[in-house]
Amino acid sequence: MHLQNLLLQKNKKVMSSELGVRNEIKTPNSELNTPTFRFIADAMLGRLARWLRMLGFDTLYYSDKSDASLLKIARQQDRFILTRDTHFLQFKNLSDFLLVSSNNTLEQLIETITALNIKEFSISRCTKCNGVLVGSVERERVKGLVPEHIYMHFDKFLKCEDCGSIYWEGSHMKRFRETIRRISGLTFKNEKPAVN
Ligand SMILES: [Zn+2]
Repeated sequence: MHLQNLLLQKNKKVMSSELGVRNEIKTPNSELNTPTFRFIADAMLGRLARWLRMLGFDTLYYSDKSDASLLKIARQQDRFILTRDTHFLQFKNLSDFLLVSSNNTLEQLIETITALNIKEFSISRCTKCNGVLVGSVERERVKGLVPEHIYMHFDKFLKCEDCGSIYWEGSHMKRFRETIRRISGLTFKNEKPAVN
């Protein structure tokens, strides 16, 4: 693939008019194909950030931080910047960022997966706060915390260790995973249940 070859050139500044990516793309643990990328998404990419969290990627998102603040956090936490904002290009020595070109969330996700050569996704993180989900939480412990029909239909639940949100395996999440799998070619990292 033309784009892939561009992106994988080592130790070279790369500019792609299609994606606006420059700099060497780091693929940590690429031999293992593990989703080790950690992201920070700009204010225009909130939906993409939630989708990445649903696919298990540690993704920060703020709707109210300046470009400079995002960059600072990215550098402090070694996060890959996802942005729709060409103003990012003004920063000197900027590396590890992807200028996302599409307005469509699915296309944005495919751009990201393709550009970074990501092969696998994993168990979801909390879509609300990016926290890690822990389980399995027994049904009795979520009574009153989830809608009654959900309580009646599901046995196992997961809980966000940061904000306490309760998650369960639902048809919506299954369809999402299947769609992503079919379109992107990503495979699920393990057989733990993903969540809704
Ligand atoms: Zn949470």
